[in-house]
Amino acid sequence: MSDKPHQNLAVIGHVDHGKSTMVGRLLFETGSVPEHVIEQYREEAEEKGKGGFEFAYVMDNLAEERERGVTIDIAHQEFDTDNYYFTIVDCPGHRDFVKNMITGASQADNAVLVVAADDGVAPQTQEHVFLARTLGIGELIVAVNKMDLVDYDEDKYRGVVDDVKKLLQQVRFSTDDASFIPTSAFEGDNVSEKSDNTPWYDGPTLLEALNNLPEPSEPTDAPLRLPIQDVYTISGIGTVPVGRVETGILETGANVSFQPSDVSGEVKTVEMHHEEVPEARPGDNVGFNVRGIGKDDIRRGDVCGPAEDPPKVAETFQAQIVVMQHPSVITAGYTPVFHAHTAQVACTIESIDKKLDPASGEVAEENPDFIQAGDAAVVTVRPQKPLSIEPSSEIPELGSFAVRDMGQTIAAGKVLSVQER
Ligand code: GDP
Repeated sequence: MSDKPHQNLAVIGHVDHGKSTMVGRLLFETGSVPEHVIEQYREEAEEKGKGGFEFAYVMDNLAEERERGVTIDIAHQEFDTDNYYFTIVDCPGHRDFVKNMITGASQADNAVLVVAADDGVAPQTQEHVFLARTLGIGELIVAVNKMDLVDYDEDKYRGVVDDVKKLLQQVRFSTDDASFIPTSAFEGDNVSEKSDNTPWYDGPTLLEALNNLPEPSEPTDAPLRLPIQDVYTISGIGTVPVGRVETGILETGANVSFQPSDVSGEVKTVEMHHEEVPEARPGDNVGFNVRGIGKDDIRRGDVCGPAEDPPKVAETFQAQIVVMQHPSVITAGYTPVFHAHTAQVACTIESIDKKLDPASGEVAEENPDFIQAGDAAVVTVRPQKPLSIEPSSEIPELGSFAVRDMGQTIAAGKVLSVQER
């Protein structure tokens, strides 16, 4: 199955517009969730008086399991089409959904935007499209969902398509890179099979559109970057850091460096799905063992890379951010928590260098006194503890972050340049 090229897919859209149901439907239609599991959830859902909601129910259960799993905070649900092997980056109902969307969408190649036909463009539709564009999503497949609730009415569909196109134009997302499909995730219309309920529509089904996406380039040209999620001690083996390879290749025998902890050693073994493998590639979740490294030498938030081209550690970095929400204004000196890959570090916004027009990206004001919700800006940031981060232009997978404060995601951004320690 994994011989096919890999696609990381983000599923975005306003709450309750049907993202979970659509993901459940995709997994189900591609045979990625065994029928008996769906059947079991169907029975449980009926017992709880939620009969018929089995797809959403499957997704809720997966989300809960992930929460219990602690170490992995981004979903890795997988399915395949004729051309591709897909990993879905999505955490419906997860309390850190927006944060995960940012760290997830930065790794996603393309996205499905779910917009309910009966509700149309809603606040999170705008927010997610804005983020998708800021973080560089390639193509957007827009599922105009819940068509069953509007009697499969073509005019209703056209209305939503027009509104979404306006939104895309506002954020300068080329509408050539977007396609539109009338769907019902609930009834299964135009997901894997062409629906008789939409005779006026002659485009592809959602699965066909996914199968026809352009092939993403595999990021193996970049040096190895593997953010550490956890560090275990396993008897008979020793210290085993675990994480996902974001770029490059992890090989046994290679000399690797962990930053910012600044220790290095030789990779002895690499394990994936409980089996020893000679190497791991981008997207692979692995545990590995490095000669001479103890459990307390490294920690979550470190990044593993080649000893001769180690991950950068920032004294300061310049970044482009978008402020999504903030009760007042952000001024120089503000010190929220930055979430980048697996690291969480308090960072001071040392200076606000430029305010940008969010639509065009052009400079609207040099050195503004403050920025607020809705603003885009270039800022200089000083981590309060060592942080490994990379310019987005060099290693996009390690170049974006979410800014959190008071339990909310305040801003999202990407790194323009790094001043190394
Ligand atoms: P999410 O918050 O975007 O993940 O939305 P959910 O997938 O949880 O769906 C929200 C509600 O809408 C649930 O009650 C679903 O059963 C329902 N729903 C999802 N898709 C459809 C659809 O195509 N038609 C109808 N009628 N209901 C749907």
